[in-house]
Amino acid sequence: MNPEKKEGEILCPNCAKPIKKDAVFCTYCGVQIKELKVSAETIALTPEQELEEGKKQLGGIVILLWVLIGLLSFAFLLALFASCATMFEEDFYSGFSLLVLYFFFYGGILVLFIFAQLGIKNQKRYAVPLVRIILVLGCFSLVGLIMVLITFWKRINNQYSKKYLNYFDGTY
Ligand SMILES: [Zn+2]
Repeated sequence: MNPEKKEGEILCPNCAKPIKKDAVFCTYCGVQIKELKVSAETIALTPEQELEEGKKQLGGIVILLWVLIGLLSFAFLLALFASCATMFEEDFYSGFSLLVLYFFFYGGILVLFIFAQLGIKNQKRYAVPLVRIILVLGCFSLVGLIMVLITFWKRINNQYSKKYLNYFDGTY
């Protein structure tokens, strides 16, 4: 005699005993009732859903690119200003060579970023290698930033710096 089927239960197709409606396996005979949950990648998407998902995945990259373009433009302006100051207040030729250097460096990177942004917007395949290059460059600039920070950390902790600032912590 099978136990009675209660509310929210179904009968096992194998042993006909009542089991929970959302059960994956029968608790009595162990037969598999429902398919195990499949991972998100194996769910078949319609072509429209695929495009929508792709756009969603790229959303964060688009925002990141805009932020970096803003920061780069700011750095570009600062660098141009600094090299102009060198040109007119110190040495014209070294200032000018800095200007040309900054122009190609920041200008080139800025163009790369703008092309990546346009490539994503217009669904161009070249956006993939461009974003890869940008992310790799980002790693290098992060390493550069850390090196700059370490350099200045050493400088503020330098014994003469501290002496100059009348800071005594017992280490010199
Ligand atoms: Zn069963």
